[in-house]
This record gives sequence, C-alpha cells and structure tokens, in this order.
Amino acid sequence: MPRRKRCRKLHSPPLYQGFKPKGVPARLIKKVTLHLEEYEAVKLADYDGLEHEEASLKMEISRSVFTRMLQDARKKIATAIVEGLELVISGGDYYFEKKSFRCKDCNSIYHFEHSEKNLIECEKCGSTNIELINEMFDGSL
Ligand SMILES: [Zn+2]
Repeated sequence: MPRRKRCRKLHSPPLYQGFKPKGVPARLIKKVTLHLEEYEAVKLADYDGLEHEEASLKMEISRSVFTRMLQDARKKIATAIVEGLELVISGGDYYFEKKSFRCKDCNSIYHFEHSEKNLIECEKCGSTNIELINEMFDGSL
C-alpha cells in the first residue's frame, strides 16, 4: 500500500492525545476528534498569538485553508467543553518538523531536529525513562 501523503507541516506533536470531562463515567462519554493539523492551527493562532498569514506560512498552507481549519478546530473544542465530550487528538494529514521527547520521571520536554540523535538521558534529572512523543500519533515521525 502506498504511504499516505502528509502535507501539513507541524512544528512538533501535541503533548497529549486528548482530554476528558471530569466526573463522568467513560462509557457515557461521546468523543469528538481533533485532527493534528487542527490542533496546530489553534496552537499557532490562539496559544502563540500569530496572525493567520504567518501561521499559514508556518504550516505551508494557504491562508484561507488555515482560517477554515481554525474555525473547524474551535467549533470542535467548544462543542467538547459545552457538551462534555472527550476531545481526542488524532489523525489528519501532516508531518512533524521536530521530534519531541518526554522524560517520564520529571515530565521535561525536548524538541530535536530529525537529523539529531535521540535523547537517551534527561538533561534535567538524568533519567533514562524517555519516550518519543511523535510515536503516540499514528506512528508518525
Ligand atoms: Zn527528567
């Protein structure tokens, strides 16, 4: 099977695969899926505070596509908060510019170029209990 084309450039993977409402049994919770490029759109516009033009350049997409993606993402997040849905961050059409590692002992995060070596020891606490966050998302590197 041919490898699926990934066309939206994301700086690095999200740190979490999703969020759940508090105090509701898991079996009763419906889900809404936020694609990774939608997560990136919200991060760039609403968290980092970039203009749509600048954010669309970073993701290597047109400004109109970026704006539509951002609107869809905001709607999904708002629906999850208002209706108490689980927000699952998964899927989409993307690739990661960086590889990101998390120390499972002190929760420190490190972003490396793909060409750089893998992190084997946490620079803050010395732990070797390290995970590659990119692998949590469809196995994408
Ligand atoms: Zn550490």
